[in-house]
Amino acid sequence: MIITCPECETRYGVDAAAIGASGRTVRCSRCSHSWVEYQPDNLPPPREVPTSSPRLDSGRRSRPAGTNLPALPRDKKSKAPAILWFLVILTLVGMIAAAIVKRDMIMERLPGSTTVFEALGLIPPPGAGLAIENQRIKAVQKGGKQVVRIEGDIVNVSGKAALVPTMLGIIRDKTGKVLKRWRFKPPLPKLLNKERIGFATEVLPPKGSETYIITFDQRN
Ligand SMILES: [Zn+2]
Repeated sequence: MIITCPECETRYGVDAAAIGASGRTVRCSRCSHSWVEYQPDNLPPPREVPTSSPRLDSGRRSRPAGTNLPALPRDKKSKAPAILWFLVILTLVGMIAAAIVKRDMIMERLPGSTTVFEALGLIPPPGAGLAIENQRIKAVQKGGKQVVRIEGDIVNVSGKAALVPTMLGIIRDKTGKVLKRWRFKPPLPKLLNKERIGFATEVLPPKGSETYIITFDQRN
């Protein structure tokens, strides 16, 4: 309970049990004023915690029974960092979610980011699960010109039905420099699991053509 010196208004926290049911003479340690303090009934809990305690005078010369009120618990210290961490994690989750939602937009702006999304496994790269086999190259005459005809098979090895993206032909010279790139439609837009379909494309090769590569257009 809180008692207040009627002379100097200094407040003290004392154990109500020390006052006793019949009251007790107490003396202000600041101004030495003495008065009889009684136990109040149903006092509201104290809001302030005084730092000093009065000496309680009693008939016998026992030690003072007044005590400071226990300090108010201060357990708010560790909560702020936890909340901050929670907010940081929440923000990161939100950013990742936004990136997933906007991935098409991001890939349009940054072609390189396609790889990042593929690495995260969010979308398979075009042609994933499809293999190109039995590739053959032959020179054929067409309209008096010698063109190169490339044939082969597309096999679905993905374990499920798969879309066949636009195909891409690339011609390199001896040094690896790209001389020509061309796109062509696959014979079927979709293959069932383990389905195989033949493809063919013809190209007029530039001078110095050395290597012919058929793959899937990653810009699908
Ligand atoms: Zn006083």
